[in-house]
Amino acid sequence: MKRIAFFCIPAHGHTNPMLPVAAELVRRGDRVRFYSFREFEAKILASGAEFVPCDEYLPPLSEKEEAGLKSVSSTEMAVQDLRITLAMDAFLDGEFRSFQPDVVYTDSVCFWGKLNAWKHKVPMVVSTSTFAFNQISSRYMKNSPREMADMVLGLPRIARELKALEPYGYHVNGVFSLIQNDNATDTVVYTSRRFQPCAESFSDHYCFVGPSVFSQARPQKEKERPLVYISLGTVINDRPDFYSKCIKALEDLNADVVISCGNAVDRESFGALPENIRIFPYVDQLEVLSRTDVFLTHCGMNSVSESLYMAAPMILYPQTGEQCAVARRVTEIGAGVLLTDDSAQGIRRAVEEVLGKESYARSAGSCSEDFRSCSGSAGAADYIESAPHASDGVDVVGELNAWSKRFRTVYSILAAVIILLGILAGWRLIWIFGVAAGVLSTPICNRLQPRAYASILKKHNIKPQT
Ligand code: UDP
Repeated sequence: MKRIAFFCIPAHGHTNPMLPVAAELVRRGDRVRFYSFREFEAKILASGAEFVPCDEYLPPLSEKEEAGLKSVSSTEMAVQDLRITLAMDAFLDGEFRSFQPDVVYTDSVCFWGKLNAWKHKVPMVVSTSTFAFNQISSRYMKNSPREMADMVLGLPRIARELKALEPYGYHVNGVFSLIQNDNATDTVVYTSRRFQPCAESFSDHYCFVGPSVFSQARPQKEKERPLVYISLGTVINDRPDFYSKCIKALEDLNADVVISCGNAVDRESFGALPENIRIFPYVDQLEVLSRTDVFLTHCGMNSVSESLYMAAPMILYPQTGEQCAVARRVTEIGAGVLLTDDSAQGIRRAVEEVLGKESYARSAGSCSEDFRSCSGSAGAADYIESAPHASDGVDVVGELNAWSKRFRTVYSILAAVIILLGILAGWRLIWIFGVAAGVLSTPICNRLQPRAYASILKKHNIKPQT
């Protein structure tokens, strides 16, 4: 019997995949203590785990901070994550002393879980509710200029919060080491190796267990007319304008339409609905997806995984860089189309496209089989119970970083020698060369990296993913 401490941020998309894993560990006789928030109490208790509420450690938010969190600002999320860590410090010191966990299972962006596992030197397994992102796979993410500016401008603020944690025994090498997946950390990812972008770049510390769902139900698509399901998830779903366009687009379609609009939208505001359309604040999504023929989704990782698990092809309407990465992977495997025009006509065209071409459903069906062949929550439970894991595998990202370091050293030495020769020869414009060499070093390195990566893969006989 092991004692396992679960940590997660207050978000359904991050909490949901941890629940079947908690249930499996409890079923095996392990003691699971889940540090979470009242909103999730019922479903955590239903998994059989002990529930520890942490709401009192959520710091009060200014209007600006609340708006930042609502718009999924990376800086705001990191800052609040670090403040919660500080607020929980004394409480978690006591918990680690009294509960004495054998393993910490923490969500990848739940900093207080990660930081306390390190501080108290307890083996840690990270739960990644999105794709695993390292410097190779994060090329899939297309961050908007607003997201990029938010990240860069927010770095000093985050650095201040990190500094405030140091006296409490939390030492971190910058926020990226807290966020990015690395090849040395035991990590569970709720997708298959086949669906994970750039899977070859992840070491054997990664356990790809497939979507974490409670349901064993098979897709049931036979019915009189097709079912279209629309949801923008549970975070950024306050979009009455978009739901109105969906209603307009699909009101005379020979199909049933189910819209999950979240709690923030007033359903009365849509007036009398056409006979084929129904709107709910929340649905049993897996059950609906098992009957769905096309899912219009914001491309949250859970929603897309559940859709593929239930063999439902998709119309992809990503709202963040991370969701763009998920959308791109779905189009690569041919299980959906991007919604490039979100007018009523554009939505109608996309629905007709996916309903009209069988290849989308076929690709989703083949991914469903792939997911169902993964080890699932039993595989995740095995991995957590036997942590920490030794690795004798190849770390291609580590090798790529070593290559970049060598490249930069050689580049700097060459540039310095040329500048020195220029000064000795009395070239007055040598400073222009110096500035250009400095400015171009990163773009040149980035340009050459893919070739270096390809040759590292070749050396180890690793096939890049297609
Ligand atoms: N969900 C649900 N019913 C709904 C809407 C969402 O059960 O009406 C669940 C869905 O099954 C998924 C999660 O909420 O597990 C949403 O997670 P996702 O990562 O897709 O998006 P997020 O809400 O985090 O943006």
